Amino acid sequence: MSNSLLSACAQAQFDHEFRQLTEDSTLFYTDGSKVDHNLCVDASVFSPQLHAELMHKLSPYTSILSTEAYAIYTAITIAIDLKLSDATIITDSLSVLETVKNHHNPKNNYLIPLIKSVLEEAGRNGTSVKFIWIPSHRGIEGNEKADQLAKRAIRCGIEPNFKVPYSDLCAVIKEKNIYTRWRILKVPIFFTNIFNRSDKPWYFRLKTKISREIVVMINRLRSNHYNLNHSLHRKNLVDDPSCSCGSPQQDILHMIYECPLFKDGARFLRRAIDRASPSGDRISKFTHVIAEPSALLRRLILSFSKICCRHF
Ligand SMILES: [Zn+2]
Repeated sequence: MSNSLLSACAQAQFDHEFRQLTEDSTLFYTDGSKVDHNLCVDASVFSPQLHAELMHKLSPYTSILSTEAYAIYTAITIAIDLKLSDATIITDSLSVLETVKNHHNPKNNYLIPLIKSVLEEAGRNGTSVKFIWIPSHRGIEGNEKADQLAKRAIRCGIEPNFKVPYSDLCAVIKEKNIYTRWRILKVPIFFTNIFNRSDKPWYFRLKTKISREIVVMINRLRSNHYNLNHSLHRKNLVDDPSCSCGSPQQDILHMIYECPLFKDGARFLRRAIDRASPSGDRISKFTHVIAEPSALLRRLILSFSKICCRHF
């Protein structure tokens, strides 16, 4: 048998098994790529059935593992938000899949527990998520498409409020000795985009056990992927990012501080945030309180989500 015939047979066999594995499932091809080391890295998600093409530009300090993990995390949150019954994430990143599967998170990368937490949320909401690993650059159509999107993201991708994992930053410092560049990078702004070092997720450090519902909600708020129109619009899940009050951007700060519809409902939460973090602008106050939310804050956020009839 000639080589070309052999490879055609292998391709046909692969196509057949792939179809069987993914029958009746919504497919999400995810990819991350480093196009230009100095500019940014790009994460992409492509779903042929949903006609969804997402391109995210991330900080150049983000590792490839974090970029791939972020794309996978985004795909899972879309599956949950759309209440899909069956979703298949197709990735060429074996390292992310193995790290998610293991109990051990060797680099303390916060994206790994975040993926585990949304997988649990998916399970509870009746969304079955499975993963398929495929080798990269083998001409698999969806995978090639995700790869092209990741490369296009440098020009037309959106910049999510993504936090560079501490472990990635340490690796960059080790490799490039960037101390001198910190001065140029306006240190305070730079550090607001970096998660604090921690061996364990924030809720492990609490003395009391808290409900999964609130862990998931706080995690979503911390990662800026939550159930309000501005966030959903960035993922192409709703057509309109505006609030029903007419404001063009329905995000969490609008709901807490500005929305006339929830002015009274947000009063206690607003007060608690201002007390816990008296100085700074609204975004830095909110970021500060949800980094380590007190029991009172957790309770108020949960009750405010109920007032808004939206599980953030
Ligand atoms: Zn509003």
